Amino acid sequence: MQIITLGNELLRQKAHPVKNIGPEYITLAEELVKALHAGNGIGLAGPQVGLHERIFVVHVQGDNPRIFINPSIIETSQEIVKFEEGCLSIPGIYTDVIRPNAIKIQAWNEQGRPFTMEASGIMARVILHEYDHLDGILFIDRIPEQKRNRILAKIEKSMAKQRA
Ligand SMILES: [Zn+2]
Repeated sequence: MQIITLGNELLRQKAHPVKNIGPEYITLAEELVKALHAGNGIGLAGPQVGLHERIFVVHVQGDNPRIFINPSIIETSQEIVKFEEGCLSIPGIYTDVIRPNAIKIQAWNEQGRPFTMEASGIMARVILHEYDHLDGILFIDRIPEQKRNRILAKIEKSMAKQRA
């Protein structure tokens, strides 16, 4: 699986709900986790590998990899926190993003079993970041415009350097 990066329009498309979670999703989940580990990331969403389905995987330290299919965020905390984020699709860029500190999510796993989960801290953070990918939203969309423009200019500069 190839991770696509900023500038590729596929990252901006809204992913479709999975209609039937068949046995092939076990293999698909394994491949997504493999790509996540290869990229040294903690979360990876379908659209990041050109797969337009509502699926993402999360693997934070001290936990097993978790698969979320057709997720819904059903609760978010009033408390919001600032935390530094990065993204496998925007390599080399890290910046603070403000998001709720805790969430409740409902989803299905790769075996087609529904589950509800409460998460806070880093786990809530990754889930919210990955969930955004399913709607074509990137973490740089959630920062102040001036900061975003600085980051985009920096990316443009490094891309120009690569072309030269
Ligand atoms: Zn990302």
